[in-house]
Amino acid sequence: MLIERAATIFRKMSHAAMRAGRNPESIKLIAVTKTVDIETIKEAIDAGLRVFGENRVQEALRKVRSEELGVRAEKIEWHLIGHLQKNKAKYAVQLFDLIHTVDSIELAEQLNKQAEKIGKVQRILVQVKLSEEETKHGVPEEELMPLLKKISGLKNLKLEGLMTIPPYFENSEEARPYFRKLREIRDAINLSFELSMGMSNDFEVAIEEGATMVRIGTAIFGMRNIHV
Ligand SMILES: *Cc1c(COP(=O)(O)O)cnc(C)c1O
Repeated sequence: MLIERAATIFRKMSHAAMRAGRNPESIKLIAVTKTVDIETIKEAIDAGLRVFGENRVQEALRKVRSEELGVRAEKIEWHLIGHLQKNKAKYAVQLFDLIHTVDSIELAEQLNKQAEKIGKVQRILVQVKLSEEETKHGVPEEELMPLLKKISGLKNLKLEGLMTIPPYFENSEEARPYFRKLREIRDAINLSFELSMGMSNDFEVAIEEGATMVRIGTAIFGMRNIHV
């Protein structure tokens, strides 16, 4: 049952927080609903989940605007957790409360422009690339400060923190140095920044290292049959 799996996640999140001497309430669960249908999202809202993450603008469009959600839609937030192309910035600012994946000046400028057009201040995180994997998006560490500086001059963006996706490891302990690294970078910039890090297989390690948002899909909704 979805409600039981969600309860298990919340319990594990609390335990990980307590192990690290952190307040469990300082950590938000982002339920990742890519490939998940509307019926199941309704069930998740009824089970008490409030923040949902999508990784594609196109797929999110259908869900965020779905009539089927009805009044439930008023209770929830949508986050973009996947890579964003500049030409979709216009839709992204219409759909998402928080965009986790800003990783270039060009994208930041485009989001700022589109947000300004609709009179919105768009909340964002900057995605940092901490591994050499070709497939991973994100700004390399050495380009982070110039990007943050640029963003601070964009009036319709509100920078709230950093995000990262470490390589996948069978053993979640191997992801720990990446999470720790992002926390150290954050600590050197702004202690009140959010840290979006940790997925189904490694969220407890991420919380021990300071995650304030964990993005969890399969551990709540089960295996996705489409590989995304
Ligand atoms: C799919 C996805 C997740 C969730 O992954 P699970 O392993 O299913 O928990 C988290 N973050 C991003 C960026 C994703 O694309």
